[in-house]
Amino acid sequence: MAFYLGIDVGSTTSKCAIVDDGSKVVGWGLYRAGAGTQGPEKALDEVYSKTGVRPQAIAASCSTGYGRHLLDWTDFQVSELTCHAKGAALLFPGVRTVIDIGGQDAKVLSLSADGVLDNFVMNDKCAAGTGRFLDVMASIFGCDVSELSALDEQSERIAQISSTCTVFAESEVISKLAAGTSIPDIVAGVHVSVADRAYGLAKRLGVKPNVVMTGGVAQNAALCRRLAEKLGCDIAVSEYSQVNGAIGAAMLAREKSTAQ
Ligand code: ADP
Repeated sequence: MAFYLGIDVGSTTSKCAIVDDGSKVVGWGLYRAGAGTQGPEKALDEVYSKTGVRPQAIAASCSTGYGRHLLDWTDFQVSELTCHAKGAALLFPGVRTVIDIGGQDAKVLSLSADGVLDNFVMNDKCAAGTGRFLDVMASIFGCDVSELSALDEQSERIAQISSTCTVFAESEVISKLAAGTSIPDIVAGVHVSVADRAYGLAKRLGVKPNVVMTGGVAQNAALCRRLAEKLGCDIAVSEYSQVNGAIGAAMLAREKSTAQ
């Protein structure tokens, strides 16, 4: 059995995945530290120890993400746009739109009927609408970003967050807390504001179903639900959403090495 390794060195988090020659995801590793840190090594340690696959058993590897150029030992280096399209098409055959929200940018990809990247739009100029915005908000509430979804579910009245800039939104949230607005209502407002940004981006490209959300932020179920309401269609999310780009990279390592 041959194994293929994909490694996605993101701005905040390093992810890796191993697929076998039957396109099955054998396992993944993740470490919350990105480009220029020990993150990639830690994520690799995790995937090898979780799967029992030995590094010598890897037939080919591919790196992707913001810090992919720092990993010169991989056989291939491919942009995260191509890798996210590839991963989503493996996990959700028939996907036509991928919304990827990571730590520092948000992207919307459109795929052809046979699952190949066609076009994309991207916001990488501003933290609003990205994981960074949610990380800043979670730290104000004194919780982890993984707790935001459950807080939103408890909201009774969505607090409006009118600032689109992260720095101003931070002051706005702090003053709402001081004025007695509940944390769940503010979290709901924060999610609506992120969903609005993603919706605006998606509208620029046009949204064709089926829609899949990837990236770390896709794990925020309440946010996905708010975005799905705006889009007026379902959004599919896999258990592998944050490692989707790494899975796509592993698939490309397989395709490129077997085509040689
Ligand atoms: P990057 O590739 O830029 O490092 P990721 O796709 O790994 O970005 O996503 C990182 C973002 O995902 C973080 O900034 C954080 O906001 C969000 N995130 C990570 N884990 C969770 C979780 N369990 N629930 C909700 N959001 C999460």
